[in-house]
Amino acid sequence: LVRVRFAPSPTGYLHLGGLRTALYNYLFAKSHGGHFILRIEDTDQSRVVPGAIQQLEEDLNWAGVVPDEGPSAGGSYGPYIQSERVHLYKNQAQILVDSGAAYPCFCSEKRLELLRREANRLRQTPKYDNKCRNLPKEVVEQKIKSGEPHCVRFKLSPLTEPVTDMVCDKLEYQPCDNEGDPVILKQDGFPTYHLANVVDDHMMVITHVLRGIEWHISTPKHILLYKAFGWDPPNYAHLPLIMNSDGSKLSKRQGDVQIRSYGERGIFPLALINYVTKAGGGFRNMDHDKIYSIEELQETFDIASMHKNSCKLTDRLGDYNRETLKIAVQDEKQLGEIVGNVIKMVQDSYPQNKNLDVNDEHVRKIVLWSQNRIQTLKDLVSPSLSFLWNVPSEKQICDSKIDADQLDLVINELKKEKLFTEDVIKVILRRISEENGIPFKKLMLTLRTAMSGLKEGPGVAEIMDILGKDSVITRLTRAKL
Ligand code: GLU
Repeated sequence: LVRVRFAPSPTGYLHLGGLRTALYNYLFAKSHGGHFILRIEDTDQSRVVPGAIQQLEEDLNWAGVVPDEGPSAGGSYGPYIQSERVHLYKNQAQILVDSGAAYPCFCSEKRLELLRREANRLRQTPKYDNKCRNLPKEVVEQKIKSGEPHCVRFKLSPLTEPVTDMVCDKLEYQPCDNEGDPVILKQDGFPTYHLANVVDDHMMVITHVLRGIEWHISTPKHILLYKAFGWDPPNYAHLPLIMNSDGSKLSKRQGDVQIRSYGERGIFPLALINYVTKAGGGFRNMDHDKIYSIEELQETFDIASMHKNSCKLTDRLGDYNRETLKIAVQDEKQLGEIVGNVIKMVQDSYPQNKNLDVNDEHVRKIVLWSQNRIQTLKDLVSPSLSFLWNVPSEKQICDSKIDADQLDLVINELKKEKLFTEDVIKVILRRISEENGIPFKKLMLTLRTAMSGLKEGPGVAEIMDILGKDSVITRLTRAKL
């Protein structure tokens, strides 16, 4: 059974890069009939942000990338939060010490700092000099007995083979030539990333590790750890960096790459998912104009076709969102939900307006009408469309010197009309203009201003159709004053 995991550190909200990693793991699992696991890597307690685990789970659920196992979903390989598994890492570190693959290190912070300074002075990359690697057994025993604080370090040895990867080229990097022996268990008994990550991937029976390219360089160390434990390593796939459309770096600190902020801006989860999947390959015959459902992405997912190099996002998120809206409104249930959300949004946006027409039928008509005009539902309450909900201000009307006689002509004609649709209205307006010698453009400007307070926007007959007869007559009558 294929088992993959997404292993974020709970340091804040889920961002776009994290969503991509989670999503690709999910798609990989589902396309192989496997399991997708959420594991929280919180062993660096100084970076943990309270509430972040719940937020991560909420964000994943919102995106539809729902774990089969994890802190909330449960599962038979838990606990899924590393701080609840500390005893396991301690035991495993001891196993390595006992076998001679790791050793206690008693070097003080002060000594390490001096090493760093010396390296900096010589313009070398600082690294631990492995001093405690060869301490005589008796010395070690005596130090431990006397309770001297120590961490545990892993003995780096040469890798016999390059690291293979499902996406990247073979990696020839030899940690032992470049780094000092890494700490695997800290003085406080907490593991470092490397130990906890390897122990958990093994104990949770992870078959494939799909993670960001920034972890590629750690993989040789992980493989050495697997070897030291006598375990088989999983298969690796390191995913290229995603960048903005202009090639600049997506910053985690930038609030706008947080998944949550996309939702708040009215972006649909599926639009965001399509946006992410269209950067960087990984799918067979991807049509860049089409919105794929998660199931369709699952079917066409092919990790081997993933690009090796950094990939750029497009600047078409707005288009994808509009296309997603068009698909959503075709489904009665989704349309009902959208209408409910729009009603709430309109009420929240205009709390001072006591006459809001947010009747279900009316809002449904507006949503269906708007699908070709807007990118997000938020646009329905933007200044250019707020006339849908609000009558123009008195100032807007007074400033535009509306001709009351023209309005009267139109009001009288419209009142008679039973079938109040765009086509019928168009014919009536043309006729009024011709029979009364009013230039058509001038008449349209008058009507548009009277109804919306705007100089441009949707066609006048279209506005009338969408507002409905009663509202149109009320607005035109009001504008005569
Ligand atoms: N905790 C690491 C992170 O925050 C996980 C890296 C990995 O997947 O191995 O991304």
